[in-house]
Amino acid sequence: MGFAPANPAQDQMAQQPTLDMDLAPGETPRTTRVLLPLALPGAYDYLVPDDLDLRLGDFVRVPLGPREVTGVVWDPLPDTVETKPIDPARLKAVVSRFDAPPMPDMLRQFVDWVAAYTLSAPGAVLRLAMRVPQALEPSPRVTGYRLSGHKPARMTPKRERVLEMLHDTGPELARPAREIADMAGVGTGVVKGLVDAGALEAVDMPGEAPFPEPLAAPAGSAAGASRLNDTQAQAAADLAQRIGQGFSATLLDGVTGAGKTEVYFEAIAEALRQGRQVLVLLPEIALTPQLLKRFETRFGAAPAPWHSDLGQKERRRIWRGVAEGRARVVVGARSALFLPFTELGLIVVDEEHEAAFKQEEGVIYNARDMAVARASLGGFPVVLASATPSLETVVNVQRGRYQRLVLPERHGAARLPDVEAVDLRADAPERGRWLSHRLVMAIGDTLAAGNQAMLFLNRRGYAPLTLCRTCGHRFECPNCDAWLVEHRFRKELQCHHCGTRAPTPHACPECGTENSLAACGPGVERIAEEAAERFPEARLAVLSSDLLHGPAATQEAMAQITRQEVDLVIGTQVVAKGHNFPNLTLVGVVDSDLGLTGGDLRAAERTYQLLHQVAGRAGRGEKPGRVLLQTYMPHHKVMQALIAGDRDRFLEQEADERHAAGMPPFGRLVSVILSGPEQGQVMDVARELVRAAPQAEGVRVLGPAPAPIALLRGRHRMRFLLKTVRDFPVQKYVRAWLGAVKVPNAVRLAVDVDPQSFL
Ligand SMILES: [Zn+2]
Ligand SMILES: [Zn+2]
Repeated sequence: MGFAPANPAQDQMAQQPTLDMDLAPGETPRTTRVLLPLALPGAYDYLVPDDLDLRLGDFVRVPLGPREVTGVVWDPLPDTVETKPIDPARLKAVVSRFDAPPMPDMLRQFVDWVAAYTLSAPGAVLRLAMRVPQALEPSPRVTGYRLSGHKPARMTPKRERVLEMLHDTGPELARPAREIADMAGVGTGVVKGLVDAGALEAVDMPGEAPFPEPLAAPAGSAAGASRLNDTQAQAAADLAQRIGQGFSATLLDGVTGAGKTEVYFEAIAEALRQGRQVLVLLPEIALTPQLLKRFETRFGAAPAPWHSDLGQKERRRIWRGVAEGRARVVVGARSALFLPFTELGLIVVDEEHEAAFKQEEGVIYNARDMAVARASLGGFPVVLASATPSLETVVNVQRGRYQRLVLPERHGAARLPDVEAVDLRADAPERGRWLSHRLVMAIGDTLAAGNQAMLFLNRRGYAPLTLCRTCGHRFECPNCDAWLVEHRFRKELQCHHCGTRAPTPHACPECGTENSLAACGPGVERIAEEAAERFPEARLAVLSSDLLHGPAATQEAMAQITRQEVDLVIGTQVVAKGHNFPNLTLVGVVDSDLGLTGGDLRAAERTYQLLHQVAGRAGRGEKPGRVLLQTYMPHHKVMQALIAGDRDRFLEQEADERHAAGMPPFGRLVSVILSGPEQGQVMDVARELVRAAPQAEGVRVLGPAPAPIALLRGRHRMRFLLKTVRDFPVQKYVRAWLGAVKVPNAVRLAVDVDPQSFL
């Protein structure tokens, strides 16, 4: 973006002597341009040694100052990126080329596109595509063993077991000694003995597990397309028809349980039939095990998963498998978009409305939108699935840019739950309590009938604010403009923005009074405390990200609920989605208004989506479900829409309001966030930016204003908000604007195109 020195490579190179190249007089050396995975403004030129042949996309080692780094042989960059021609005599040479598949053209184009769209340095985006450096090294090889055809001179029962097992499970197949031993239930010594006796022969084989091939045709009559009802079959056929027919974007719109997954599985099957790779993007890794299972049932093989919890070995295996076309289907979180697919022919974005698709740090991008861009660049279809599609997507359908397939019915016996509001103005809980009389009665009835109930509150910890009853002291984070949240189960105060933790003190640090601290407001742990008092017989489970460590723990907690080892579930948004609890018939939302405060552009939309999802937890089995929304605003459009089950009317109202205000998706927004350790310095830059803002038709620069979280991790923050008409060339404007101001190193400037968060 032009904030760093114009050409740092040149500066660095000046410090070191260049390599001597043997050039005949008048001969021009071969050079190549290499993009490095660093947040630098441009790409660098390097000399190509005579014995090296380089293609676009090749991964290479190159010198950069005193060290060596890995980069990618790149196209000339778009003219928005600065690169100065350098005198070849000063260039350094490429050190070596990796023996790895080159980065596919489509991925390089995508990296450039994302960089231009998000106003990021191309190298910073490239870094997202180079997260697995080990994958550039050759695949490890191991020694495997298979039957040689010779009988050993001496036979023992254990040896016989090994030979029989190998014979039955594929005599041609080589396996590592450990695996053979495990499969036959013997020690590795037995396998070694058979090798020495000449009954097994050694074979050099890949050291990584292969990728089982998903089968496009349904495994049996009970699986696949034959299970679909008429509407679903029609939608599946519609989607499948689009595979191989160039770019298209389709909204697959259906309530939870309407069979969206089964329908897009058939589009995946068609892509596989056509020899294409497929990417399924999911917002949460917690969802993955369930989806992987369903996928395996349909396709006879698990897809390759991609998420932050994978170990290094598995990452390497999958990255390389994708690059070499051996991994056909990947199910992953947003970073899977940057995997080196060579034959990608379909992307499915499940739960497309989820805010979790937005990457909020580093390169700030929305994986849903970038998936559409990647499909468009690659000329293949993208499917966006949701029960509560985002207003952006709905408006794209109305504009004719996206197609829409609707799945109206619920699959099987489950019915939509009855939703009622509990007006807290009329039915207020007692002081220090949070559950209304009506909700308590409903829980009692549910438990008495032998069913399960769930209480939902999207707030971690015990209380959002702790203060001293004697002097009024409030516990604030020293690094952030935020209160410390009490986590009573862990006996500590925690900042939810920077993670700062401190043990909860006995005495007020301000006035020294003991036992004077008071908790204000409820968190999920406090609701659990009240529930335990009110229903002492009930078996409770508290589910929140603080208390569940990792996806495995989450899965286990979900399994306990399914096995009915729990009567009353109390949880944050970790319980909101994806899980089927057939015996859960009541959902109580403790504070339905929580997400509506704060003036976020999408507050109503988000609250609707979240509460709709939570409500869907009730009555997923044969029993009817009931949902109680505790609210001070029973007439708010969100509550009314949930009660009436009228999503489309809500979306219309929402669209009308945004249209009138010129807000997305009818206008565009870009946030520019300045931050730095010194407030004065940040304000100076902000003033400079105000002066430098170019005048243009269709754009308004709002701000600077202190960000709602004006102090975060010790940095002072100020925001600008650009509001433009829809067809405004936002990127060009921002590039010109920010390029005109010199920003000191201590001040960071983050640009968020199409912001989701306004904190
Ligand atoms: Zn005090
Ligand atoms: Zn903090």
